[in-house]
Amino acid sequence: MHKLNNLLPPQALGFDPQQLAERYRKERDRRVRADAEAQFVQIDNDSPYADKYLADDPYSEPVARDPIEDEREVIIIGGGWVGMMTAARLHQAGVKDVRIVESGADFGGTWYWNRYPGAQCDIESYSYLPLLEETGYMPKLRFSYAPEIYEHAQRIGQHFGLYENAVFQTWVTELRWLADEDRWLMSTNRGDRMKARFVCLGTGPANRPRLPGIPGVDSFKGHTFHTCRWDYDYTGGGPDGNLSKLADKKVAIIGTGATAVQCVPFLGESAEQLYVFQRTPSSVDARNNSATDPDWAAGLEPGWQAARQKRFGDALLGNRIDPEFEDDGWTRMMRNLRSLAGQIGGPSPDLMPELAQLADFQTMEQIRSRVDAAVQDPATAETLKAYYNQFCKRPTFNDDYLATFNRPNVELVDVSATQGVERITEKGVVAGGREFDVDCIIYASGFEITSSYERRIGIPVYGVDGQSIYDHWSDGMRTMHGLMVSGFPNLFVCGGLFVFQLGANYAYGVDVQAEHVAYTVAELTKRQVRVADVSPEAEQAWIDDQLEETGMQAQLFLGGSPDSCTPGYYNQEGTQTRYRDVRLESYSKGLGAYRKVLRDWRAAGKLEGLNLTGS
Ligand code: NDP
Repeated sequence: MHKLNNLLPPQALGFDPQQLAERYRKERDRRVRADAEAQFVQIDNDSPYADKYLADDPYSEPVARDPIEDEREVIIIGGGWVGMMTAARLHQAGVKDVRIVESGADFGGTWYWNRYPGAQCDIESYSYLPLLEETGYMPKLRFSYAPEIYEHAQRIGQHFGLYENAVFQTWVTELRWLADEDRWLMSTNRGDRMKARFVCLGTGPANRPRLPGIPGVDSFKGHTFHTCRWDYDYTGGGPDGNLSKLADKKVAIIGTGATAVQCVPFLGESAEQLYVFQRTPSSVDARNNSATDPDWAAGLEPGWQAARQKRFGDALLGNRIDPEFEDDGWTRMMRNLRSLAGQIGGPSPDLMPELAQLADFQTMEQIRSRVDAAVQDPATAETLKAYYNQFCKRPTFNDDYLATFNRPNVELVDVSATQGVERITEKGVVAGGREFDVDCIIYASGFEITSSYERRIGIPVYGVDGQSIYDHWSDGMRTMHGLMVSGFPNLFVCGGLFVFQLGANYAYGVDVQAEHVAYTVAELTKRQVRVADVSPEAEQAWIDDQLEETGMQAQLFLGGSPDSCTPGYYNQEGTQTRYRDVRLESYSKGLGAYRKVLRDWRAAGKLEGLNLTGS
């Protein structure tokens, strides 16, 4: 930082980088908990919380059916973007005998389950919503709300005929390779025994909710639910708000991540009293949503979506920010970087890390100043300011969240001093020694996004010789291409695990893998290959390549160095105990480079790295 203080002194910047660096460090240190990820309660299928927070579906009645015992060419586990896009690409590649097995009662994955009021995608819809051209759909808004996205998932399902073979309301309980049959056997909670030549594990990153391990978490006698199982029977209203049944209710919401930022305005509007328990504030930038311009939409040329997704990806990485992304909050940091670079006459490469840090400070200063502009009470405003690098946590964008704290019925409760809520009692929530009596506790406590592989996937997977995939991954995720695993033939682990590499526009990253899986399955089928297993050497070569460098992407997510970010799921709650995992789960050179590796592999046509057994 010293060099930059010389280049751009605090007076020119409007802030002192040294002071901010020190403040960030202190804020981080007081948040790191020794129990790291163990502070969260796992909601697995057998836990006492399973029915309430996982299995019970508030949106659909269970439909009875007989167990299925049959065989398909491909089974895809998960009917969210990963499963649907893989199925769509398989369909395009001529592989039609595909079954999607899904826990929800319809397609959509995260957009099926997350129906909380205000749920919205924070990535522009033209880049995020998959297969717009193929399905002939144009989003209504620049940033779509959840109901429109869920509807689009159904549209994709209809368009590609995915409903035909789909099995809903079904939780997979085990996946086992049958060596004598060269097939996978999938068991489910419905007593099914489905077999398939190929399996695609597309459970996605936000598939399993988690609860904070607050003492007494199961003792509350009032009403409670997780944001991804929103109970509209209790709250009244719908995704647009008007939660009329809360008019005489005192409500606590625990957590202030991307989900809470979107639903708190609606809770504040409707509840008699709302307590927002905040451990770490989110950065909340402007949303600036707008309706889609029909003239613009009418003028789009075929191929526009892929081209736009690429331009959007480039803008996020600051490679080139096209005018259409200049006012998108996701590019604020890169715009600042560009401007600072201009001020010093273009930086030499060795100054880039420092300059990027300055741009981050500047970005967060701008976002912090939004809090002062929106929140009347200075103490509340100060508590709402985020002091960490922007990408330490998922950045958020909302025009109503901050002003909600001006309401007389809304109270922000800062629980940072005790590293979280102290206790849950029969009557409510204890924080700062005060008991908050409430009628309802809502957990906006997130998902098993980067916890251990077993917790995230939640399905036992046994490969050749009955080996568990989690044992195979005990020292980090071992794969070739982040997709195929040695000893687990004909299996593709898509999407969810490679969450870092897939970038902010998750759906786009997913498609890169979907295309590859579709090619591989179609090609193996064409060549009449029964079993394709990654050789141990090819798997090791991929790992060695991954570990060789920690590129810009991993650095951004990890905040510049392994230990500098405030705790959260991006950095295993600040401990970096699985820093190696993060690197194995990312492609450090970025999504574009990853896509090229896969394309080159396909173009070579050799199926290199796979041991093949013919028919
Ligand atoms: P997060 O994991 O981001 O947030 C969990 C929240 O719970 C944090 O504020 C956390 O505080 C808090 N918390 C955890 N334990 C305690 C405790 N003991 N006491 C008090 N507070 C506690 O979950 P979200 O559901 O908000 O978001 C998950 C992800 O889902 C996002 O990061 C994003 O990737 C995705 N998402 C995307 C959206 C989109 O628009 N595309 C919208 C919503 C979600 P702390 O920060 O201190 O750990």
